[in-house]
Amino acid sequence: MTLHPFPTHSHHHYSNLNFYSYISRFHLFPPVNHLCPTTPSHHHPLPHIKPRRGAHISSGPTTPRQQQQRKDKLLIILGATGAGKSRLSLDLATRFPFFEIVNSDKMQLYAGLDITTNKLPIPDRLGVPHHLLGEFDPRHGDFTPAQFRAVAGQAISSITNRRKVPMLVGGSNSFIHALLVDRFEPGSNVFEPGFNGSVSSELRYNCCFLWVDVSLTVLTEYLCKRVDEMLDSGMLDELAEFCDPDRQDEDELTASQTALRKAIGVPEFTRYFEKYPPQGRGGEGDDRERREAYEEAVRAIKDNTCQLAKRQIGKILRLKGGGWDLRRLDATDAFRAVVATTSSDKDDGKRWSEIWERQVVKPSVKVVKRFLDE
Ligand code: ATP
Repeated sequence: MTLHPFPTHSHHHYSNLNFYSYISRFHLFPPVNHLCPTTPSHHHPLPHIKPRRGAHISSGPTTPRQQQQRKDKLLIILGATGAGKSRLSLDLATRFPFFEIVNSDKMQLYAGLDITTNKLPIPDRLGVPHHLLGEFDPRHGDFTPAQFRAVAGQAISSITNRRKVPMLVGGSNSFIHALLVDRFEPGSNVFEPGFNGSVSSELRYNCCFLWVDVSLTVLTEYLCKRVDEMLDSGMLDELAEFCDPDRQDEDELTASQTALRKAIGVPEFTRYFEKYPPQGRGGEGDDRERREAYEEAVRAIKDNTCQLAKRQIGKILRLKGGGWDLRRLDATDAFRAVVATTSSDKDDGKRWSEIWERQVVKPSVKVVKRFLDE
């Protein structure tokens, strides 16, 4: 049974969207820097933060609407973990071939743990350029929201300077907030329970938000199955290698010292491997106890993933409450069909993708076309 929602893609390109007229209207001014690298070299150290250069030249008094339209366009796909953000991003990028994707999942920024952090495998990216996906060395430490603002801001400028359109995709709402607000204050966290200010709706880009939402009950069921599927596709071996205390060379850091230490799966399996080291070195003991410890780790991963989804939805609602114009797409019916999928019924996959097309992709395409034509 496969739960990974990536069946065959239909490559409709919308010929009625006048791509060239759109592109020529897209930037009011010529690009400043043609020399921005499109694909940065591998595993950069963390960036120094530079103030952003002004994107546009001011030309007298304008209305807020005009000001908004002068900014660079950015499509943002929000949603809890597992809600189908990557799938929707590809569905849109294959229809509107000028989109390039910028990752905003804080764990997927780093190289390593591809299965555990659920990075889209290269063949599944369908040739769509992806930025900030596995590009940073986790041994250089955690990204701060301010550093994310700087690197993602640079990736977005480089895409718009090449007359392409950036699409921000990922679940780290604190990073998305840090990147998008006009005035970011590094010291404050708008998502902290005690925060007594409001979320600013003054944004740096001309933003169009698509929020893929799935009812928490259905999403929980899906996420538990997804964890089982990730384990089937090699998550345990990946974590065994990552968490193995004997793995470290002299100059290597231990798993617990890298930015990936917090990825769901690492703390849960570190505890398990301490008791039952990988590759059968010692800890043979009682098979039943080992089995129980393993099942306990899997249960904890499922619980923590569902808790993450719940927190993410809370943060999205907070952004919405702050005046961010999020267009909600309800993917619950599509996910109900995914969790009902059985390996014996060949029509199941078709059923879910039909619902997804009708209830999520079609309305998204409408919103995106309107946004691009503005
Ligand atoms: P916080 O302010 O709590 O850090 P956030 O919105 O900045 O939240 P999230 O993306 O919600 O960031 O991630 C919070 C935590 O969830 C991470 O520190 C990690 O433990 C876990 N997590 C998030 N994304 C992933 C992922 N792709 N794989 C594994 N774990 C993840």
